[in-house]
Amino acid sequence: MATNIKLKASARTMSLKDVYQGGEDKAYSLFRKVRWPETDGAPVCPRCGGLDAYEITTRRKFKCKACQHQFSVTSGTIFASRKLPFTDMLAAVLIVSNAAKGVSAMQLSRDLDVQHKTAWVLAHKLREAMRSETAGFKLSGIVEVDGAYFGGHVRPANMKEDRVDRRLAENQTGKRRVVVAIRQRKGRTLTFVTKQEADGVELVAKTVERSAQIHADEASHWDTLHAMFPTLRVNHSDGYSINGVCTNQAESYFSRLRKMIGGQHHHVSARYLAQYAGHAAWVEDHRELDNGAMTNRAIGLAMAHPVSRVWKGYWQR
Ligand SMILES: [Zn+2]
Repeated sequence: MATNIKLKASARTMSLKDVYQGGEDKAYSLFRKVRWPETDGAPVCPRCGGLDAYEITTRRKFKCKACQHQFSVTSGTIFASRKLPFTDMLAAVLIVSNAAKGVSAMQLSRDLDVQHKTAWVLAHKLREAMRSETAGFKLSGIVEVDGAYFGGHVRPANMKEDRVDRRLAENQTGKRRVVVAIRQRKGRTLTFVTKQEADGVELVAKTVERSAQIHADEASHWDTLHAMFPTLRVNHSDGYSINGVCTNQAESYFSRLRKMIGGQHHHVSARYLAQYAGHAAWVEDHRELDNGAMTNRAIGLAMAHPVSRVWKGYWQR
C-alpha cells in the first residue's frame, strides 16, 4: 500500500514554528512576492500599474509616484482592510490549508488567539478564494457525477407506528440540501448546492466538455445524460465498481465533506454548505501537495481574489 503522502516528511515544508520564528518581516515579504510575482515583490500600483512607488515603511504602505494612489499589499484583494499581523494571516492560511478535515472558527480563534468572529470571517474569505480556483472550469476525460444530502435531519419517532418516510418531501424540514459533485478522474472536483440531485443534470451539461465520458449511478434522473454524453452507469446494488465504471472518486470526496461537517462544523446551514463543499473539494484536489505549496497556493488565490462582497465588513452590518 502506498504511504499516505501526509505522513512523509517531504509533505511538511512549512510549520507554525517556521511562521512565528520567521517573524513579521518574513511573512510580509512572502505576501508581497505572492501578490507581485512578476516584480519579485516590488509594488505595482493597483490603479495605474505604475512600478515606481514611495514606501511608507512604518505603515507598510505605498504611494504611487505616477498617480499618488496609496495602497498596501492587500489592497483590492479579499484580505483588504486586514487587521491581523502578517504572521497571523500566514498562520491562519497554513492551519486552514493543512486541515484535511477542515477547521472550525472556534479552533482557529483559539490557535491564533484572536476573536471568534475574526477567525470566522477569515476562514470564510479563504474558502471563497479556494472556490474561485475552479470558477468557469470545464471538465473532460472520465467524469463522475453524484449527489449527497446534507442537513435538515428529521429525528425518527420512537414508536414504529409513528415513524414517517423521511424521503417524503412533506416530512423534510426544508433545510435539507444536496451537494452535487462533478469530478474529473485525475482532475478537479466541482461542487454545487441545490435542492434536488436531479439539478445535477443541468450542472453537468454546463461544466463538462461534450467529449467526456460520464460515470453515474442508477438514479433515474441521470438517464437524461445519455442524450448528451457517452454515459456509463453503475448499479450500486450490484457493486461499487463494475468494469471500471464507478463513482468512487465522488464518494471519497463526499466522505471528506462529511468528516469536515460532522467533525468540525456540526450543523451547517444551507447558506454555508456551498463554502464547506468548495473547501473540501479544494483540499481533496490538492491532497498530494506539501503543506507549504498548499499554503502558497491559497495565499495566491486570496491575493488574486477581489474584495469579497459577502465577507467584507461582515460584522459591521
Ligand atoms: Zn498609480
